[in-house]
Amino acid sequence: MNYSSWIYLCFNFLFFSAFPLLGQESRALVEYEKKKMMMKKPIYKASFYTLGCRLNQAETSLISNTFKERNYEIVEYGQPTDVCVINTCTVTEQADAKCRQLVRQVLKRSPDAFVAVVGCYAQMGAEALRRIEGIDLIVGTEEKMAVADFIDIPQKLPEPIIRRSKISKTPFTISSVGNYEHATRANLKVQDGCDFMCTFCVIPFARGRSRSRAFWDIQREAIQLVARGHKELVLSGVNIGTYEFEGKTVLDIVKMLETIDGLERIRISSIEPTTISIELVEHMAESEKLCSHFHIPLQSGDDSVLANMRRLYNVAEYVKFLEMIANRIPDVCLGTDVMVGFPGEGEAEFANTHRLLEQLPFAYFHVFPFSERKGTAAVKIEDKVEVHTKKERSEILRNLSREKKTHFYQQQLGKSVKVLMEEQNEPGWFQGFTDNYVKVGVPTDCDLSNEFVEVELKEISQKNLAIGEILNTY
Ligand code: SF4
Repeated sequence: MNYSSWIYLCFNFLFFSAFPLLGQESRALVEYEKKKMMMKKPIYKASFYTLGCRLNQAETSLISNTFKERNYEIVEYGQPTDVCVINTCTVTEQADAKCRQLVRQVLKRSPDAFVAVVGCYAQMGAEALRRIEGIDLIVGTEEKMAVADFIDIPQKLPEPIIRRSKISKTPFTISSVGNYEHATRANLKVQDGCDFMCTFCVIPFARGRSRSRAFWDIQREAIQLVARGHKELVLSGVNIGTYEFEGKTVLDIVKMLETIDGLERIRISSIEPTTISIELVEHMAESEKLCSHFHIPLQSGDDSVLANMRRLYNVAEYVKFLEMIANRIPDVCLGTDVMVGFPGEGEAEFANTHRLLEQLPFAYFHVFPFSERKGTAAVKIEDKVEVHTKKERSEILRNLSREKKTHFYQQQLGKSVKVLMEEQNEPGWFQGFTDNYVKVGVPTDCDLSNEFVEVELKEISQKNLAIGEILNTY
C-alpha cells in the first residue's frame, strides 16, 4: 500500500469515528471517492469532428482540452475511439444534411463508440437527430462546452440523453484552454450569439443573444495559449464587434493582447461593418501586432436586397467605409462574405452585386447560396430564386473571387514580407501566411513550423500561392 493510501485510510478511520451517524449517501460518496483514489483511472480515447465556422473550431479545441484533462487520449478523427464528439453547424440545409451524414458515417465506422452530437444543429435539430439510432448524447448551445461532464463511462446507451437548456444572455467564462496541438495559429473565443436578426440567419436562434466573455478570462486563456507556443491568435465570435464587458471593447482586447510577451500576431476574424470603430481601424494602421486584415461581410451589393435582408447599412455606406480602410491601411487584406439567390435578387440586383465586387478592393470573398431556414423572416419573402440560378451566380462570383485574389497577390510581388510558417505542403516546400493573409510557399528542406521568416515574394503559382525566397530567419 502506498503512502497516499495510508493517509486516506487514517483519514477515513478518524472521520467515521468522529461522525458515527453519517448518512448512507455520504458513506457511499466516500466509498466512491476511495475507489477512485485506489483505482488507476482508465484511459479512454476521444476524437472530434467540427462542421461550420471558425468559432466552432475554437469551441471544439476547448472541448477537446476538457477531455484531455479527464485523462482521455485525443486521437485523429477516423481512428478507433471510445468517444466521438461532433460539433455541428445549422447555417444552411446542406449543413444539417452533412451533419446527419457524418453521424451515420461515425456510427458505421465505430459502432461501439459513444457518439455525442453538440452545437448549433443539436440545438435546432435535436428531434431529427434523435431519430438516428445510435447517438448517445445530444447537447445544445448552452451546455456544449461541458459535454465531457455528461460522460462518466463511455458506454452505448439505448436512448440518447438530450440536454438543451435555455441559452443564457449574460457574460461568460470558459474553464479551458484551446487544444491546437498541430496548429500554429490558435483561435480565441471572445464573444457568442447575435442580436442583429438578419432575415436569412438562424444564428440568433441557434446560438442565442449576443454575450461577451469576461475580459480577464480572455487574457487568462491567451497567456496559456502563448505559453503553449502559439505566436498568432485569431479573435473569434459570432459578432465580435459587439463585444462589451465592463466597458471594454474589442479594441481593448487587442490592446491587452499586445502586451503579452511572445504573442506576435493578433488577427480579427469576421466582423460586421457597422461595429468597426474608426479607432480600431487607426490602431490597425499603426500596430505592430494587429494583422492588416479585415473580413467584413457585405452579403449583397444591391440596396433593395440589403433592406430585405435587414442589414444595417446600405451600399453607399459600406463603400465609403471600405475605401476609408483601404486608404488608411497600406496593403490591407480585405475579404467579405456574399450571398447569392436571396429572395428578390433578380438579374439587375445580381448585376449590382457583381459590379460592386469588381470595383471594391477585395482580396477574396466567400460565396454562399441562400438557404431557407425555418423560423427566419426570409421564409415569408416572395420571389424565390431557382436553385440552378443560385448555382450559376455562385460560380460567377467564385471565379471573380479567384481573379481578385490573383490581382491582390500580384500587387505584393517584389516585396519583402514576414511570414509565419505553418506546415510542409509538399516535400521540399513549406507554407505560411503574411500578416495581410497572403499564403506564401518557400522551397526548403528545413522544418520551419511556427517560425517567422523574411521572404521576398517572386511569383504566383497556379494554385494561387505566392512563391518566395527566404531572405532571413528571426
Ligand atoms: S450579423 Fe446577421 S448574419 Fe451575422 S450572425 Fe448576426 S444575424 Fe446572423
